[in-house]
Amino acid sequence: MKHETAKSAALFERAEHVIPGGVNSPVRAFKAVGGTPRFITSATGAWLRDADGNDYIDLIGSWGPMIMGHSRPEVVAAVQEAAVKGFSFGTPSTGEVELAEEIVARVEPVDQVRLVSSGTEATMSAIRLARGYTGRAKIVKFAGCYHGHVDALLAQAGSGLATFSLPDTPGVTGAQASDTIVVDYNDAAGLETVFAEHGDEIACVITEASPGNMGVVPPRDGFTNTIRRLTRAHGALMISDEVMTGFRVSAAGWYGYEAESLGYPEGPADLFTFGKVMGGGFPAAAFGGRADVMEHLAPTGPVYQAGTLSGNPVATAAGLTTLKLTTELDVYSHISRAADILRPAVASALEAEGVAHTIQSANSMFSVFFTDHEVINYDDARTQNVERYSAFFNAMLDAGIHMPPSAFEAWFLSYAHTDEILDRIISALPAAAKAAAS
Ligand code: PLP
Repeated sequence: MKHETAKSAALFERAEHVIPGGVNSPVRAFKAVGGTPRFITSATGAWLRDADGNDYIDLIGSWGPMIMGHSRPEVVAAVQEAAVKGFSFGTPSTGEVELAEEIVARVEPVDQVRLVSSGTEATMSAIRLARGYTGRAKIVKFAGCYHGHVDALLAQAGSGLATFSLPDTPGVTGAQASDTIVVDYNDAAGLETVFAEHGDEIACVITEASPGNMGVVPPRDGFTNTIRRLTRAHGALMISDEVMTGFRVSAAGWYGYEAESLGYPEGPADLFTFGKVMGGGFPAAAFGGRADVMEHLAPTGPVYQAGTLSGNPVATAAGLTTLKLTTELDVYSHISRAADILRPAVASALEAEGVAHTIQSANSMFSVFFTDHEVINYDDARTQNVERYSAFFNAMLDAGIHMPPSAFEAWFLSYAHTDEILDRIISALPAAAKAAAS
């Protein structure tokens, strides 16, 4: 069923006059999938309501934060309670201590955290700290890993391994990108080569703990440990970006999941970055790690980092309440079970229509690639058939299921995705698979 979208279309037209491309973050514009982006006016549980009054089951979850579903009453109450006490103090406050304690208690290698307002700020600050701590300039990132729109991290692999990348975004200067080395994800030999050539110049390797921004591409067995071994051997720091996976794939994020499943014979990362779930839908993020590294930050150390709204009391109240609920209600088991129900249903719908696909998971976080082979890096991810994803996306949208408008994203589930909601999603799959096949 096509939805009435006149009001969203009118809003989009107004927006295009005053906001570049009509959106405040590019992928929201539906450019990759076509059609009118829905302007959402309210959201409850697993549901989004748009300006025309249409309801959609939400599989975006604000790109990760909404692990409890929307407008969860306990979180609403915590936000209201915090808001009546004041919006921002610019002084130390109780909530930020409690949120920092909660993170430190969950992620064992993290002794201290500094709160910031976005994942981008977290990765940008962690890199500055790594450079300040080591006195080195170069950083290594992996192609297809997204760490926010930090200038030096927008560099991607033009080709092959260990490319000294040129900026591929106008506005990022050669100087800003020239200290960034890009390696293919899961390419242990490529990383070895880079360290053999530049080992004493490298401040840090930053990696998504288990990448979700080229679709879900988990580390092959041993890859995380290879990063750890090489960074330690060459005096560089390892930064594990858990902005997406943190507090989503387990109570202790990918760190906790991989610690249980594979262990860290070479030890954990030195620094971690967090965002999304820890803010419960509000702007709160963090970077943290070993105390001896974190103490290099001002005011204890020389590396400057600051923020007017960092540790904002309303955001910390939302984040802390969200985190507490995830363990009190065993949200991780709920989401794992939901993913276990959804994955085979998607696979069998696509199989029935003969649509090539590969479903990949980082514990409960998964994505569907429209390709017939395993995806281990960005080059693989880009071979998928994005036209099929667009057709699938639009058929799902017509059926009232709002997926991420990009083939390179995880499907975000929440505690509000009950069996009844899953049944509705599953009943929309055959038609969407048929659309993808045609
Ligand atoms: N790191 C990862 C792994 C992310 O997925 C994102 C956002 O999607 C970021 C960093 C940037 O976070 P933010 O959008 O809050 O700046």
